[in-house]
Amino acid sequence: MFVYAKTTPDFPVQDKPIRTIVIDAGHGGSDPGARGKYSVEKDIALAVALKLGKIVEDAMPDVKVVYTRKTDRFDDVRRKAAIANEAQGDLFISIHCNSAAPLSRVVGHKTRTYRNSKGKKYTKRVPVYQKIPNPAKGTETYVWATTKNNAKAEALRNSSVIVFDANSEETQQLMNATDPETLIMLNTLKNVYFDQSLRLSGLVEDEFTKVGRISRGARQRNEKGILVLHATAMPSVLVELGFISNPEEEDFLNSKNGQDEMAQCIYRAVKRYKDQLERVYNNAEAVRRAAHEQAATAQAQAPAPQPVQHIPATVSAQTELPASGPQTAADNTHYKVQLMTTEKVYARGSSLFSKLNGTIEREDVKQGSQKLHKYIWGNFRTEAEAHAAVYKARQHGFKDAFVVTYQNGERVD
Ligand SMILES: [Zn+2]
Repeated sequence: MFVYAKTTPDFPVQDKPIRTIVIDAGHGGSDPGARGKYSVEKDIALAVALKLGKIVEDAMPDVKVVYTRKTDRFDDVRRKAAIANEAQGDLFISIHCNSAAPLSRVVGHKTRTYRNSKGKKYTKRVPVYQKIPNPAKGTETYVWATTKNNAKAEALRNSSVIVFDANSEETQQLMNATDPETLIMLNTLKNVYFDQSLRLSGLVEDEFTKVGRISRGARQRNEKGILVLHATAMPSVLVELGFISNPEEEDFLNSKNGQDEMAQCIYRAVKRYKDQLERVYNNAEAVRRAAHEQAATAQAQAPAPQPVQHIPATVSAQTELPASGPQTAADNTHYKVQLMTTEKVYARGSSLFSKLNGTIEREDVKQGSQKLHKYIWGNFRTEAEAHAAVYKARQHGFKDAFVVTYQNGERVD
C-alpha cells in the first residue's frame, strides 16, 4: 500500500464548501457595455462588484474574494474565466446591466418632397417619430444554458481545478477525454455545478424581489455575452442588475443607495446558498442514508467475489495512519472513503485529488488477471465525518465513493 501523505493531514470536518468567491465586474476599459443617458454599464458593474466584495470580506472572514478586475480595465472574457479558474473559485458571480433599444413613437406627420426615377418631384405625408426610452426594467440572473453543457465540460477539462500540469500524462488523458472515467467526472461536476448555479440564481432573484425590485426571473441564456459562465469551472451566475436604458433604473443603479442595496441582495443570496451547502455538508444523516444505498447497490451489482491478492509495494510502504488526535471510538474503529477502483495509476499529488484534504492511499489489487488500483481517502474518527467526506468526494466527481470501516488497522467490510 502506498501512502501519499500531503503536507498537513487535516480532516474535512471543518471543511467549508465555499472558500473562494470570484466576483466579476462585467466589461471594463475599452468595452463600456451598455449605455444609459449619462452612465455606462462597466462603471455600475464595477461599483456593485466592489461593494459586494467588501461585504463578503467583512461578513465572511473565512471566504477569500477574488476580483477579475478592481479598476476600469479591459480583459477578454476568456482571460476573466482564466483568473477565476486559476483562483480555484467555488463560486463565480458576474455583474452586468441590461439594456433595451429605445422605442419610436409617432408624434405627428409632415409633408416631404421626393423625386421619382424620372426626376419628377412628388410629395408625401410621412409620420414624425420621437425616440422614447424602452420601459423594460427589472433584474435577471442567468446560468449557462443546458444546451451549452458541453462547453462547460470543456472549461472543466481545461481548468486548473482538474489539470495542474500541462505536460503530465494525466493532463493529456483529460484533454483527450475519450477516457470514460474522465467523462464521468466532467459530467458529474458539470451537473453539480449546473444545479448549484440554478439554485443560487433563484436566491439572487428572490432577494431582489424582497426589496421591491422587479424580477424578470432566473434564466438560461446561451448567446455570446454569457461565454464567461461556460468558461468557468465552478458554479457560475450572471446578474443583470437592471436596465440602464430605463431612466428610472439608471438613476437607481447610479445612486449609492441603489448600489448598496443590490450588493446587499446578492450578498444575502450568497449567504443563503453557502448556509444551505454547509447544512448539507453537516447533515450526516442524509448522506449516511445515501451512502448506504450506494453501498448496497454496489454490492448487489458486484460480480461474484474473486480472491483479492495484495501486490507487494515496490517502494517503502508507510502504512502508519496520520495523527488524528485522540481515538474516541472505544473499539479503535475508524473510517476512510474509497474514492474509486480503476486500472489507471494516478500520480502522486494528482490534481484529481486536489480538493480533498488529507491523505490519499493507493491500494493495488489483482482481480483475476487484471491489476486494479483502489484510491482511499482520509482517516475519520466517526462515521458521520466519513459520510460527510463521501458527500464531498461525490461533489468532486467521485460518484461511487463510499465509506470503508477499519478496526485496529484492518478493513472490516
Ligand atoms: Zn454586460
